[in-house]
Amino acid sequence: MKVLVINCGSSSLKYQLIDMENENVLAKGLVERIGIEGSILTHKGKGDKFVLETPMKDHQVAVELVLNALVNKDHGVINDVCEIAAVGHRIVSGGDIYSKSVIVTDEVVENIKECIKLAPLHNPAHIVGINACRTLMPTTPMVVVFDTAFHQTMPEKAYMYALPYEMYTKHSVRRYGAHGTSHKFVSLKAAEMMGKDAKNIKMVTCHLGNGASCSAVVDGKCVDTSMGLTPLEGLVMGTRCGDMDPAIVPYIMKAEGLSPEEMDNLMNKKSGVLGLSGVSSDFRDIEDAAKNGNHRAKLALDVFHYRVRKYIGSYAAAMGGIDCLVFTAGLGENSISSREEICEGLEFLGIKLDKEKNNVRGKAVEVSTEDSRVKIYVIPTNEELMIARDTVELVKNK
Ligand code: AMP
Repeated sequence: MKVLVINCGSSSLKYQLIDMENENVLAKGLVERIGIEGSILTHKGKGDKFVLETPMKDHQVAVELVLNALVNKDHGVINDVCEIAAVGHRIVSGGDIYSKSVIVTDEVVENIKECIKLAPLHNPAHIVGINACRTLMPTTPMVVVFDTAFHQTMPEKAYMYALPYEMYTKHSVRRYGAHGTSHKFVSLKAAEMMGKDAKNIKMVTCHLGNGASCSAVVDGKCVDTSMGLTPLEGLVMGTRCGDMDPAIVPYIMKAEGLSPEEMDNLMNKKSGVLGLSGVSSDFRDIEDAAKNGNHRAKLALDVFHYRVRKYIGSYAAAMGGIDCLVFTAGLGENSISSREEICEGLEFLGIKLDKEKNNVRGKAVEVSTEDSRVKIYVIPTNEELMIARDTVELVKNK
């Protein structure tokens, strides 16, 4: 069974065609600058990379070109579009409507529209992508997989903010979390690596990339996560500030004469390790600058690591213990020094990192010492595969 996974952004579209018999990626690619000048498709299937620069006025044209590339006799990997058994779409927000993936219907599309207020940049693009696929592949089943779904098991005490209750009932203000597909994928994989099913494991999963979040997972279910109503809350990120005193918002707005949009931009785009270091939002650049004696770069890393360490400790307290710690995403999978810094001082929780085993990048491995009470794993995340697995599951049981 071949599944096409689609991830639509406002002007982009990422895709993978996965053969679910062996979970091999047959082809993948990226369409950029949809609807603007310089539209470009980069496709890797059979043979060399294929690049096509041609005007694409909307996502429907982009999906059409993706399907053409998949069946192309030189770089395609299938003979006919009908070989695609199902399509899985990544959706950023399902609000509190969806706690699991579902088959696409008109009602589902309406509900995703309802959640636009919670993901104004992403959900509109997802809907355009779904509609384009439904038009071009009218008989192919489609599934939507929500980034928020995994976090829907959080108890009320974890997802409610201590604001007037009407802010929740009137404006849906609560914690929804993000990166759920990744947290789910690595928590399942970690349980497999521990040789247990997810039951009876208390786990903290750290998705550390340009966007970063931690989740507390008990018995395979998310009980808390660091991102909130939006992905701004929680850890320090590439350009996002994460947790801070909310009174800072009106304080800076007044002091700098900023509008709400400008303040939002400052916290989302100009803060995090970029704002602290003044060097870059890319952790590799910051690590290099810190090695060369740049104080602010070192400070940015220290603040970042300290915040992750605090979340691990607080989640261990929230869960009443911890059995397993997982690092994933760009930094989590690749930064040997960051994993070391984060684990330093957590020995009191039974977390002991083996420095030799930790000398690894981008592989699913255990990196804890023999006598570490807590198993520590590096696990490359694979959101596309998780989406494809959910898609198969739903389509098979239709
Ligand atoms: P992601 O958002 O998951 O793609 O992660 C992107 C982040 O991972 C960027 O800030 C990268 O600098 C960081 N990253 C990727 N590879 C490495 C590496 N080898 N060492 C440190 N950071 C890395």
